[in-house]
Amino acid sequence: MQDLIRRTADVIKNSRQTVVVTGAGISTEAGIPDFRGENGIYRKLGEDRVMRIINIDFFRHNPEEFYGFYRQYFNFPAVEPSQAHYMLARMEQEGYLAGIVTQNIDNLHQKAGSKKVIPIHGNAEQFVCQGSRCQARYDASYVLDYPETVPRCSVCNNILKPDVVLFGENIYNYVDARELIMSSQLVIVIGSSLTVYPLAGFVREFSTLTQDLIIINKGPTSLDHAALIKIDTNTTGTVLEKIYKHLQ
Ligand SMILES: [Zn+2]
Repeated sequence: MQDLIRRTADVIKNSRQTVVVTGAGISTEAGIPDFRGENGIYRKLGEDRVMRIINIDFFRHNPEEFYGFYRQYFNFPAVEPSQAHYMLARMEQEGYLAGIVTQNIDNLHQKAGSKKVIPIHGNAEQFVCQGSRCQARYDASYVLDYPETVPRCSVCNNILKPDVVLFGENIYNYVDARELIMSSQLVIVIGSSLTVYPLAGFVREFSTLTQDLIIINKGPTSLDHAALIKIDTNTTGTVLEKIYKHLQ
């Protein structure tokens, strides 16, 4: 392990541009359940049911039922970033990272202080007014405190939508995310088994002939064979702290 950590630090030091790609694994260390994990809602409620309700058409036609479900299962407790989130913010601050592309919607990278974050599935801490000329934004506390199930805009009274990508919607910042990954010399995947598209697709497309891939994840991923270095760990925070020390 020590050797893998030292080698990872060396690759980062020599990289012209490094981008980090994060998945649910980094947030489970902060206490956020992985939707697709063993105790996640996909397993508990059935993926079909979740996909039917957390869906843009369902939201438009049945906002009451949508929000009943959403408030019950997508209401993140006040979770603080993990050590891993903080280490990544510090590495960016010191010029080792060009940015983070994340599939997480928990806002924890931003909370930890990372500046360049592309949350391709949106941000569950934000809600957007659906009034086409309004589009006012609200934070989660407005919605939690709202007296009715379906939250409405205080300006125009239109319905608010969680600022997350629902099934049936395109991911956010597709072009930016892809460009950032493709223009990098090194991509470090953290806490993702690389099965969820389009992120898995970006990383797959990335050429391991001219670009380097490092994977830090608990368990196998679909691209282990292509990785220059693979670190199997469930203590990402500690691993990142050690890598950071070697960068100094
Ligand atoms: Zn409005």
